This record gives sequence, structure tokens and C-alpha cells, in this order.
Amino acid sequence: MIQEIASGLSAEELFERGIGLSYSDFTTLNTNFANTDRKDISLETELGKGIKLQTPIIASPMDTVTSDKLCIALALQGGIGAIHYNHKGEDGKPSIDMQVKEIVRVKRFQNGFIENPVTISPDMTIAQAIEVGEKNRIGDWVIRTFPVTADGNTNGRLVGLLRKYDYFRGSRTDLKVRDRMIFLEKLVVAEYPVTLDRAKEILWENHISSLPIVDGVCNLKYLVTRRDIEKSEQYPLATKDANNRLRVIFAVDTRPDAHERLDLGFAAGADGVIVDTSQGFTKYARDMIRYIKNKFPDKLLIGGNISTREAAKFLAEEGIDAYRNGQGSGSICTTAGAIGIARSPATAVYECSKLLVDTNVRTIADGGLREVGDIFKAIAIGAHCAMLGNLLAGTEESPGEVIIDRETGLPTKVYRGMGSAEANVGSCRGYTRLPEGILARVKYRGSIHMWVPLIRDGLIHALEVQDCGNIAELHRKMYAGELRFDKENQQSHDERKRSNLFL
Ligand code: IMP
Repeated sequence: MIQEIASGLSAEELFERGIGLSYSDFTTLNTNFANTDRKDISLETELGKGIKLQTPIIASPMDTVTSDKLCIALALQGGIGAIHYNHKGEDGKPSIDMQVKEIVRVKRFQNGFIENPVTISPDMTIAQAIEVGEKNRIGDWVIRTFPVTADGNTNGRLVGLLRKYDYFRGSRTDLKVRDRMIFLEKLVVAEYPVTLDRAKEILWENHISSLPIVDGVCNLKYLVTRRDIEKSEQYPLATKDANNRLRVIFAVDTRPDAHERLDLGFAAGADGVIVDTSQGFTKYARDMIRYIKNKFPDKLLIGGNISTREAAKFLAEEGIDAYRNGQGSGSICTTAGAIGIARSPATAVYECSKLLVDTNVRTIADGGLREVGDIFKAIAIGAHCAMLGNLLAGTEESPGEVIIDRETGLPTKVYRGMGSAEANVGSCRGYTRLPEGILARVKYRGSIHMWVPLIRDGLIHALEVQDCGNIAELHRKMYAGELRFDKENQQSHDERKRSNLFL
């Protein structure tokens, strides 16, 4: 008879009092016989106020992470984005208007409109058009229908449409696009604004499969295709409100102009707000939370950042729905060194989540998540959701251009802390404020539409291995000591934090 001795440690044993652990300081063990079917696994998590995510990921409100574009893509993939508040007007002063416009764009987005469709110019040859289609392939699907614009640019003046029926791939490809395209005069187009339902009707009535949408001066704005409408109906994970619009949240700080931001942000349709401060256990945070709770009681309210039981208790008693757990742990964060206040992220998540386990307050693990496995570990030790900066800053949809790293030749994107001198939040970072963040670059990760499904795959695989059908079950196992852990060799704190940054 083989004796049964549980491997490793329970979560309680792992998190010894007084020793801070980060995600690479421990691992979960494969002690549960995997008997759960992948297809039965759900990553659903509830944030509060009825907002459910099918993918437990929130994009951090940072100016190198959340654009409206990223928020749209992430919401389509089941997560949610938080629009940051560091937009600046031409005078360099904070602009509330720009933040509100981004919220509006997410709320107005309708599935099925292709922004920036792949276009060609009338002077190209058919062979060149075919090449463009090949180059822009999405998975194994090659683009074969192209709006033709005068200058070939995606938002240029529409002059025609080259459909797949207008050419053969194998013959007479030296002809010019203009020789085979359908000229604008003969095309069915719609003028913006138009709803997706109306666009769908136009496709149907005219027996066509592509509908260019143009503005008042015939510049191309969108393309609607039959294929895309069918596909848009295939974003079953999308985070949507009762009116079928994508959900989005936004950030405000604790300064007085937040009151105006709140009025305008909610008027624009935002679903919730983050009181965005690195120190969420203060009278400023308390006053802002009370103000929001009183004025917008139906909206999702996220507090933080905090990392201790004392602060978690305070936020829960103030009645927030969810809170950001993490201080000093972000990969671009230098708070720990600057002011000597921080906490190892895994310890903070475990302790606070455990304290609040019988409440409805949700823990968002924020900072220090460098790999998909770290997201799983954060959830395994009590978090309901992860907030990502580093892991989303390198996507196609985040603000900024792709930069090739000189040393490695790898594509990267800029990522910077909101407390860095470069971000200059509130235009107040002169010599009077000590920076608490740095500017760096992260690896380019391609589109959210490729990357987030991969993150989901990793999380689902981990749940499968731990024989859990959902996050609640994982939490139950962890608190019951059935989820087992080992400690790993400690790396230096900074080395670990920065290990996927280009500095
Ligand atoms: P990361 O994903 O590990 O890079 O962490 C992202 C988190 O770092 C954000 O969600 C914020 O909580 C935090 N953060 C953002 N900017 C700064 C900063 O300048 N200093 C300290 N922490 C920051």
C-alpha cells in the first residue's frame, strides 16, 4: 500500500508570516488527478454591479496601454479596458475631452465594422494586390477583396472595389487594378454614420458581400463584409452591456477635476470607474470613493492600490466593488526604492483575498504579472481577476509604434510607468516630484486577437490540470489545502520584476 502524503505546501503554509513572495517564488503542483473536460472550463469572473468577464483580464489605465482600440479588442475577447486619464491637449494641459472621446468610441463600436481595411491603389497590378492580400493574411485566411482608394491609403478617397470575382490568381495578373475593379459609380456604398443592422440589410438587399462605408467627402471609413458580420457574431466572449454595446471603464485620480471627469465619463456611457492612485488607503481616496458611491451608486467602483489587510478592510468597509491589489510590484514601478513602501505581490494578493473571502469584494491582482502562468498563480491564491500593464503594452492595439530593438533586432513597444517623469501625469512632474516609475520597452506581441486567446488557453490548461471547472472551484481547493505549492529559488526582486523589459 502506498502511503498518501500530500506533496508540497498548502497556501497557508506557503505564505509564512513576514516573508513576501512574488509569483516566481512559488509554483503550483500537479497533485489533482485531471478529470475535467477542457470544454467545460469557464474563466468567468464577476467584478461587481453585474459586470461579468469571460476572460479575467483588465487592461491597466496607463497611457502606453489603454487606447480605445485596445479596450475594444480586449472587450471583444471577454476582458475589459480602463481608459487612462493622462491625455494632454496641445497646450500640454490635461484634457478631459480626449479621455471622454475614447470612452465614446468604445461604446459606439459595433461589431462588424472593419476599421482601417486593407486597401490598394488603382495603379497597382493584380499581382501586387494578391501579394498585399497574402501579406495581410489572418491565420490561414487570405484577403481577396480590396477597397481601392486614390492613393492606396486606408482612409483615402474611395475610387472602386476589387472583388475576388474580378480576377484570377493564376492568369493576367499583370493587368492594372483599375482595369478590373468596379468603379465607384457602380458600387453600393453607405455613408457614415450607419448602424450595423442597416449595413447588413444593404448587403442583403443588393446581393453583395462587401460594403464600403464612406464619410461625406467619400473618404473610406470602414468596410463591412458578410464574412465579418458572421464573424462578429462569433465573439461569444465579448463583454457587453444590456444594449449590446461593449463595456469599458475609466480612471480618475483624486484631484478636484475628477468630479468633472466623472460626470462626463458616465454621461458618455462608461460602465465603471477606477479611483486611480498608487496609495489607496488615504483620506483623498476615501473622499473620492464616497463621492462616487453617492453620486453614481449603480456604477462599478474599483478602489486601490493597496497591499495590506488593514487597507483591504478599509476599502471593503467603504463599499467598493473591487480593488487593485499591488503596491510597488509593477514592472516599471520604482515606488519601492523611491519611498520604501511596497509589498511582494503574491503575499499581498493572498492575504487580502483571504481576509475578504466572505464578502462580495473582488480582488484584482495588479502588477508583477510577467507571464501567463503568473496570472494563473495570482488567481490560484485568491484573486478574481488580473490587471495587466506589461503583458498588454506590447500588443498591436496599445498606443505607440513598433520599435526594433537595436541590440536584439526584436520588435518592441514603449511602456512607461504612470509615475515616471516621462508620463508627467497631471503635468506636475517637475523637479518637485520624485519619479516612482520608469520608461522602458516590452516585447511586441501582435494583436490582442491573437494574444488574449493564447492567455486564455494557458489559463484553461492550468485549470484543467488542477481539475477545476472554474475560478470558484480553484479558490475552494486552495482554501481547503487541496491545491499544493512549492517554493522556488528566489531571484533578486528587481531582476525578476524587470526580466521582460528592454531597458
Ligand atoms: P506590470 O503589469 O507589472 O507592469 O504592472 C502594471 C501596474 O503597475 C499598473 O496597473 C499600476 O498599478 C502600476 N503602475 C503603473 N505605473 C506605475 C508607476 O509609475 N509607478 C508605480 N507603479 C505603477
